[in-house]
Amino acid sequence: MRNIRVFVDRTSYTPNDEYAFIGFPPLPAFIPEHNEVHISCSFSWEKSQAEYLKYQWEVATDKPVKIGGPAFGSQATDFIQGMYLKPNIIFTTRGCNNHCPWCCVPKLEGNLKELPICQGNIIQDNNFLQSSRAHKNKVFDMLHGQRQIQFKGGLEAELLDDHFVNAVTSLKIDELWLACDTDATLPKFKEACGKLTKAGFTREKIKCYVLIGDDMDKNEVRLREVYEAGAMPFAQLYQPIGAATKKKYSKEWQQFHRMWSRPAATRAHMEQGTDFHDFNT
Ligand code: SF4
Repeated sequence: MRNIRVFVDRTSYTPNDEYAFIGFPPLPAFIPEHNEVHISCSFSWEKSQAEYLKYQWEVATDKPVKIGGPAFGSQATDFIQGMYLKPNIIFTTRGCNNHCPWCCVPKLEGNLKELPICQGNIIQDNNFLQSSRAHKNKVFDMLHGQRQIQFKGGLEAELLDDHFVNAVTSLKIDELWLACDTDATLPKFKEACGKLTKAGFTREKIKCYVLIGDDMDKNEVRLREVYEAGAMPFAQLYQPIGAATKKKYSKEWQQFHRMWSRPAATRAHMEQGTDFHDFNT
């Protein structure tokens, strides 16, 4: 018998097996036999909704109903494949040895810890490049049997070395995600992006998380530099850790964010000079 997992919303990462549910419980006949119900919540502004779901599921089952996830500060120092993510999305490490002020990973996962490696093509590790060369080699060996490989968790530009570049050139890579969250990280980002471009990876494969939300003009400069360096930027509007409600941004910020988080819009802006006010939908 297995545990039911309940999610506030469905995303492309949400498992879709018969024990994974979104929102309220269905009619009793559609609830499979189970040991426990786990309500999983990722974002702090969805906590009250998750708590309401806990109440609803307690009515629907006589088994224990637990609530957790990053929003509730649940520690995540290991990884169970397929439990809270689709089975092809995996962590081979947990944690990170850095302490970026906008990030909750060190608090929830601690320092970097290498885990046993399971099969999967989307590597979600928060800082894969901090792992040992021996660990990386084991992951690369596993990935030789995978297709559409994505390093999605964010590769730290400063740690992207020839060993990594040589290894990924022999894999069926779909996306390599870097991060460039401050102006200070631009030089190292450009260096890393240059290595990947030289190895044959195009902008369609090199993606970059870019934290925005403080100064639009400065953010635009950084986003443009990321694009010109050979990567496709993906803007992320800053949200304070632990906030009870999602930080609201002006319409202008929302339009700006849309333009820099949709590749077609970003390309049109960079190559045809389209303004972000044109991206209203
Ligand atoms: S390097 Fe990435 S995972 Fe580590 S603390 Fe900074 S943002 Fe978080």
